[in-house]
Amino acid sequence: MNLPLSFIQHTQSILGDQWEAFEKALNAPSPVSIRLNPMKSRNKRFATDGIAPVPWSEFGFYLPVRPSFTFDPLFQAGVYYVQEASSMFVEQVFRQHVSGSVRVLDLCAAPGGKATHIASLIGRDSLLVSNEVIASRANILLDNVMKSGFDNVVVTNNDPLALGKLGAAFDVVLVDAPCSGEGMFRKDADSVSEWSDGNVQLCCERQQRIVSDVWPALKEDGLLIYSTCTYNLHENEENVRWIMDNLGAEVVELQIDENWKVTSSLSPESKVAVSRFLPHRTHGEGFFLAVLRKTSEAEGLAFSKKKDKKQKAKPIPVPAGLKQLVLHPERYAFQEINGKWRAYAPQVAAFLEQSEGLKILNAGILLGEQKGKDLVVSHALALSNELNADAFPVENVDRETAINYLRKEPLFLPDAPTGYVLLVYESSPIGFVKNIGNRTNNLLPNEWRIKSSYLPDQNPIWLK
Ligand code: SAM
Repeated sequence: MNLPLSFIQHTQSILGDQWEAFEKALNAPSPVSIRLNPMKSRNKRFATDGIAPVPWSEFGFYLPVRPSFTFDPLFQAGVYYVQEASSMFVEQVFRQHVSGSVRVLDLCAAPGGKATHIASLIGRDSLLVSNEVIASRANILLDNVMKSGFDNVVVTNNDPLALGKLGAAFDVVLVDAPCSGEGMFRKDADSVSEWSDGNVQLCCERQQRIVSDVWPALKEDGLLIYSTCTYNLHENEENVRWIMDNLGAEVVELQIDENWKVTSSLSPESKVAVSRFLPHRTHGEGFFLAVLRKTSEAEGLAFSKKKDKKQKAKPIPVPAGLKQLVLHPERYAFQEINGKWRAYAPQVAAFLEQSEGLKILNAGILLGEQKGKDLVVSHALALSNELNADAFPVENVDRETAINYLRKEPLFLPDAPTGYVLLVYESSPIGFVKNIGNRTNNLLPNEWRIKSSYLPDQNPIWLK
């Protein structure tokens, strides 16, 4: 790997005699890891040897090889997420410092690794707002949140400033900041060629701006989790110090098992408690994380503000059978907007009431769309952790049929009843078809279709 000279000089200066081992690790292959979705993997087991746990995450596992994830229907069904191991360390913050029902903002959330992870760590009465400022990336986040199936994750597409304007709405804010990406050097060759001192400086300033802009959205005593995937001091320890001095915060310590080989601050000046993942010491990519508690006064409480009562349109009666589509209908408010029926958990409905002006891409469980007398059930419902599978006839399909479905091919299901049929692969729902007798309508969203006609023939069933 052809590393930039200035990167070598700075990193050598902070790593000292660890430099050689570090450089060697940068030339070694990247580990492959996944994180199971606890709501969808209860009865699953690994069907191959060589799987090892990620020590700092209950749901994380290293795989000995990289299977063809695209062609695994369980991946498409959200049973697991392919995620770099070091970043699963966020779990420790939630296990050690977050409890009860909380409101969390994941500000820079696409593609959704940490958002879908956090959703599995907070209680079901909690709320996660997962936000991404870049519209095309926000759509990827939307898909991944839908796959994960949680009903309490709202997906938004806003600038940090717009979220800051909410006032002190959140108990926890994660800023997984856009950074110079030094920790991705061995995974992504382009990140080496894009690196420069100037870009590190730009990233640093942008990170400070992002944290300042969102700062008002954090409650007093609330936690800011600040993370990057880069090694230099400027974007890490120095920015943590900047946040403490300029915004008013103190660093919160994490209890860390010494076997995990997490490295503490590398700054000669700032010895605050931060966690660094270095590839020659931990099995994963470069990662930096700090937890800060807001000590400055919060400005206004967005969620206690009462909105002016507007004249609401008369609610449309909930169609017969709609409530039975979910497991716990008593938890939800059912509402129709532009023909689309959704189920809102109370904390999601409360957030929507207070979030005027924000661009919301999804909130609540999209159940389906009314078309004439027919409610066309949604793919989001098939993948929801709240799906009541008993409300539908079920067709258990093999891998080949599941992949044909995921290629959006019309399936022929001669033994299934007519109407909506839920397809299940290895006991996980993968989507709906509408059986009309001699053929079926495949309800997979077009943009989810696997386009490749290639089918890997190596044994793909490593999880069942
Ligand atoms: N948290 C994500 C995950 O775990 O999958 C990864 C986030 S990535 C490190 C940083 C994200 O910040 C990117 O999705 C990027 O589009 C977004 N971003 C870029 N510029 C930004 C800005 N000015 N404000 C907020 N987010 C920004």
